[in-house]
Amino acid sequence: MQALPINSLNSSATVSSICDTVTKIARQHGMDENEIKRFIEPKEVIRLRLSPRLSDGQVHHLSAWIVRHSDTLGPAKGGIRMAANVDESIISALAMEMTLKTALIDVPFGGGKAGIRVDPHQLSPDDKQVIIRSFTNLARRHIGPEVYIPAPDMGTGEKEMGYIKDSIAYGEGHATTRGCFVTGKPVVLGGIPGRHDATGAGVVTTLQCIAERMGLHLDRQRVVIQGFGNVGAVVANELIKHGATVVGISDVSGAIANPNGLDMQVVNTYFKEHQQLSGCPAGCGIDPEQLLVMDCDVLIPAAIGGVIDASVATNIKASIIAEAANGPTLSEADAILQQRGIVVIPDILCNAGGVFVSYLEYTQETQRDQWTLSDVQQRLAQRMCQRFDTVWQTATAPQRLREAAMGLAIEHLHQGLISRGLLT
Ligand code: GLU
Repeated sequence: MQALPINSLNSSATVSSICDTVTKIARQHGMDENEIKRFIEPKEVIRLRLSPRLSDGQVHHLSAWIVRHSDTLGPAKGGIRMAANVDESIISALAMEMTLKTALIDVPFGGGKAGIRVDPHQLSPDDKQVIIRSFTNLARRHIGPEVYIPAPDMGTGEKEMGYIKDSIAYGEGHATTRGCFVTGKPVVLGGIPGRHDATGAGVVTTLQCIAERMGLHLDRQRVVIQGFGNVGAVVANELIKHGATVVGISDVSGAIANPNGLDMQVVNTYFKEHQQLSGCPAGCGIDPEQLLVMDCDVLIPAAIGGVIDASVATNIKASIIAEAANGPTLSEADAILQQRGIVVIPDILCNAGGVFVSYLEYTQETQRDQWTLSDVQQRLAQRMCQRFDTVWQTATAPQRLREAAMGLAIEHLHQGLISRGLLT
């Protein structure tokens, strides 16, 4: 059983590896070759060239992509990634992952993704705004409640989603959009309470579920988290509330560890002040390469894809891996983890809380309704537990959750294809 390796060095190998995995599982689930082809190839790939003039006075030429991988079950849904290394195949692979994720978490969306090739860390807030507005202007006809609905992903957040809504609404001479064109917006602009924390909260719910199933106590788990962005920071702070001990954490600036547990208050205060973890006095600085193989019970990759390769997999000490990032485990590593009896909560289940709450935001905006934070938290916890239980019951062993999750998603898509009939 192969994992979804996103961001690995060879992106064409990445995509073919995903396709092989999906093809294998699709065949096992009785899909014929035509159905498999319609599922494997993205339905639509749009390449854009942005030419914004930035604050240095120069025009910058940036490549961007929108991939609508599948709309069998509904409009394509997925975030906009801003990173220096995105390309068409990575965005396509991530879009396919969204198709599986929305099918598994059972929301009426397909899968899509957008990418803008630029390093967001090198941009001023104003330049970032200019780029996202330039993207929106060019992408305008490909974005809509029935076509593709963007959301935050790596390098973008609620601010950018607010600018997208503003560009589209005012571009049409209206104060607001007709329906939901983008999710993950600031609450004041029609976003939903709890969307910011939703992915991290969903990760923690899957950990609570697995702990219960495996007879473990979250408050006795020693946890390592790679990444301190929107997802990693929420997971770390939530887990502390459940009594777990965070023994190691990292961001792009470096990694820190403390075998007795990091004081998250110190970490949060330091991060707020310095915008980085490196130098934080809550722990000792360690080699970020060593973080993933540190002594711990639970490992949570919550940053980029492709970080667990064969050698990391051989040396991991954790007995549970919760894939908060998209595609953190390479296929070669997945086989090793399985052999070693390490239980992996697969990304399409583990981090699906974000897109589930995006769906709630979509319904809120469509119905011109207002949801409370507790409504959102309750619906999110309920859905994550329900889908976790289904995956757990379907899996032939705790080490085979990925296979079960992907099988369920593919089966759901198969039903969608059949129900739409020949013209899909
Ligand atoms: N970027 C997030 C993901 O990878 C959220 C997508 C969404 O809400 O549409 O799941």
